[in-house]
Amino acid sequence: MAKYIFVTGGVTSSLGKGLTSASIGLLLEAHGFRVAHQKMDPYINVDPGTMSPYQHGEVYVTDDGAETDLDLGHYERFTHAALTKHSNYTTGKIYQAVIQKERRGDYLGKTVQVIPHITDEIKAGIRRAAEGADVLICEIGGTVGDIEGLPFLEAIRQFALDVGREHTAFVHLTLLPYLRASGELKTKPSQHSVQKLREIGVQPDVLVCRTEMPMTEEIRQKLSLFCNVPTKAVIEERDVSVSIYEVPQMVCEQGLDRILLDRLGLSSAAPQLDEYHRLLERIRNPRGQVEVALVGKYIQLTDAYKSVYEAISHGGFAAQVKVRVRRVQAEDVRPDNVDELLSGVHGVVVPGGFGARGIEGKIEAIRWAREAGVPFFGLCLGMQCATIEVARHLAGLTGAHSTEFEADTPHPVIDLMTDQKGVEKGGTMRLGAFRCALRAGTRARASYGDETIHERHRHRYEFNNAYRERLEAAGLVIGGTNPERDLVEIVELRDHPWFVGVQFHPEFKSKPTTPHPLFREFVAAALRHQDAALPTTPGA
Ligand code: GLN
Repeated sequence: MAKYIFVTGGVTSSLGKGLTSASIGLLLEAHGFRVAHQKMDPYINVDPGTMSPYQHGEVYVTDDGAETDLDLGHYERFTHAALTKHSNYTTGKIYQAVIQKERRGDYLGKTVQVIPHITDEIKAGIRRAAEGADVLICEIGGTVGDIEGLPFLEAIRQFALDVGREHTAFVHLTLLPYLRASGELKTKPSQHSVQKLREIGVQPDVLVCRTEMPMTEEIRQKLSLFCNVPTKAVIEERDVSVSIYEVPQMVCEQGLDRILLDRLGLSSAAPQLDEYHRLLERIRNPRGQVEVALVGKYIQLTDAYKSVYEAISHGGFAAQVKVRVRRVQAEDVRPDNVDELLSGVHGVVVPGGFGARGIEGKIEAIRWAREAGVPFFGLCLGMQCATIEVARHLAGLTGAHSTEFEADTPHPVIDLMTDQKGVEKGGTMRLGAFRCALRAGTRARASYGDETIHERHRHRYEFNNAYRERLEAAGLVIGGTNPERDLVEIVELRDHPWFVGVQFHPEFKSKPTTPHPLFREFVAAALRHQDAALPTTPGA
């Protein structure tokens, strides 16, 4: 029978419940348990697929094509949990299911209510996510006290009653504000948030406290007393200085894994953390650094390209170097300032995106990287922009564009597939994992060391096969195609140190311990570029 850990948050949002949940997952896996992860999001949108990056940050895509919350990216990076459409439920998705059942007459004429119908639907979702796992770690989004979150908290209270309190652990993440004037950490907001939780009938077993200052013994005892949690289960989660990957170690040192195992009646000897410790060693002792530019539209938001930033840093872990990212606003890039904006970088990344804003700047940055021989990596829209750049400047196709941005371009090198035309926007995206056959002799093939790969997609437009021959004649190499539909998935350039564009999102599958091959090779190419550019030391 599965065990269940519920993670709630208090005081403010953005405390890092996702990271804390993922850290618990990593530690339980190290103890040999099969973990599953789930996120409940109290907002009404059915999924984050249609939300603006300003609202929600990145949309994380699973193998089965679900558009989900970016916290699922943390879970996948920290653990081996297989995430699916059942790994993320929103209030909207729950209500949609209940309303469909009501319309079908499944409730046999009963009045349909939050309790039990909505809560039953939530509980069914929790059970589904736990299938095949020893432990499910279910994170409840939002902050305790929010109106929207109530049905979820009610559902987890009932859940513990249904499966037995001994199979359930409640972890509450909270913030200890530090008052500079008096030099004190304050516990009152945490006390109040635990009170709110207890009002609903949920007593936390563990309190994880985010704090910028060390917690004194006195504070720990005060929190223990007022929140009704044993002192050893009051865990300090200090702001990490070097990397988010330090969080599991920090909470492990305070015995968080032990407390949870004891709570759930699970036994295990010491956790196997060798691989993880080796990773920390590499992260903490970089042997050098490189700088790459990320030319995008939402560069002021760290969350909008979350998985891309992570995957870039993983490429650095593989080479044991620190990768600095220069965030460049795509709209700002013009032919007259591109040199200045990108000078000194050892690589250029153009991430995915939708909408015309900043497109010409991205194309300009790609032209610069191509002409300067600087490693270039294009992700989804980045690959489409690279195709447009090559079409315009190498194949002589003046005015080449994607029909997403210019419907009557003379050269639609990126276009909708014929079977997609005339269909409404919703439901026409290519979503989730698709097969890609790699061509021998390409950089992609060398990076993956494999003939066939599976990568995740989230886009509507495709490389237009009508232009394949002309672009190949101009030097573009088709590195990989989807065999089922003959779709171009990877483009490269023959006469360039490292120029790769992929129609998919490799960033979603990168982990710190197993960096994605293309990010690993991109960073390696950036390092070679840096070495080549360094002035040779006289006499060396
Ligand atoms: N806007 C492009 C398309 O829909 C690219 C999408 C993306 O980068 N995820 O095809």
